[in-house]
Amino acid sequence: MKKKKLKIKYVKVFSASLVLILGVLFIIKPKWTKESIDRIEYSNEAITIMKEKNILDEITKKKYSKTVEKMLESGKYEEKYFDDYTKINCPEKENFEDSINTFLNKNYTPEEINNIFEYLNDTNQKKLKEMEHVDLKDYVKISNLEVDKIERYETYRIEKNTNIQDAVTKVNIGLDLEFYSEIETIQDPDSYTVLLNKYRGLPENYVPLDLTPLSINKNYKLRSKAAEAYEQLQSAALLDNVKFFPFSAYRTKDYQTGLYTKYVGRDGKNAADTYSARPRHSEHELGLAVDIRSDGLNDNLTEEHYKWMLDNSYKYGFIVRYAKGTTPITGYIEEPWHLRYLGVDVATDVHNKGITFDEYYDLYLKNEK
Ligand SMILES: [Zn+2]
Repeated sequence: MKKKKLKIKYVKVFSASLVLILGVLFIIKPKWTKESIDRIEYSNEAITIMKEKNILDEITKKKYSKTVEKMLESGKYEEKYFDDYTKINCPEKENFEDSINTFLNKNYTPEEINNIFEYLNDTNQKKLKEMEHVDLKDYVKISNLEVDKIERYETYRIEKNTNIQDAVTKVNIGLDLEFYSEIETIQDPDSYTVLLNKYRGLPENYVPLDLTPLSINKNYKLRSKAAEAYEQLQSAALLDNVKFFPFSAYRTKDYQTGLYTKYVGRDGKNAADTYSARPRHSEHELGLAVDIRSDGLNDNLTEEHYKWMLDNSYKYGFIVRYAKGTTPITGYIEEPWHLRYLGVDVATDVHNKGITFDEYYDLYLKNEK
């Protein structure tokens, strides 16, 4: 009996204390929690602005958002976008606040905006800000994407029934347009890895300055590094009993003009375009291309020598530029004899990837230049 009374007493005291403690906690809790969030997370500057705008309670009720903080601090905070800001990851770069508002204004979702910041380079982000809203779809993750061409990609993708990566690269090369219909003048003609094709031409007056005669025949010249590499290629081939000779190397614009005109006269323009470049579009005008023939042939390689070139020329910095199966991309017939100098690193990479230089340039070089 005594024991039971004592027990009840303890329970009563305990319950009363509990109620008291909970009550005290309940009264002071909101303030205590809020203050600590403020102090730990948001900067004093942001808190001051929240107080000024009378949004402190509202914002601190929600999870901390660095984007919200940055928008406040920069003075670019727009109340109507509060929820969107909280879903946008804070970009790791300067002055993104205007961009966020611009994209939200153009009705991009927070998810799209996160992708834009994560995947698009500065050029694409800048272009996108100046365009009407476009549906980025999965294009946003394609490394060689050019946002202003998305409509062309879609048309090409559907027409050719291909995937988006293929559509992007092919359209970037220009393949949804007629050859020679839209020509860009290249800005870096002295680069050893410059791309020249039916969409990209040399500046009118460009002449390479370091042309060097090949030791086997002084009439044939290449730019110095390419000439040096050619000597190495020739020596290495000889060790494997592959003997070949140059039959064309550097060509002036006038020479290329004469050649192309002659072929057009003989075979007509359409046919000539499949095997001869128009002036300012030939790699021979760069001093980086050489045509070679097997011993005993006039203007071609034997099957055996062709195979040797495909398997080995990259080790000395050359690729077979117009190999079998590349006609739909290059617009030229298969030319086993035409070697292009790119330097060992790029030639090796092109060889390993097994793609045309046109594709390689768009995928891996364009954005580095
Ligand atoms: Zn050639």
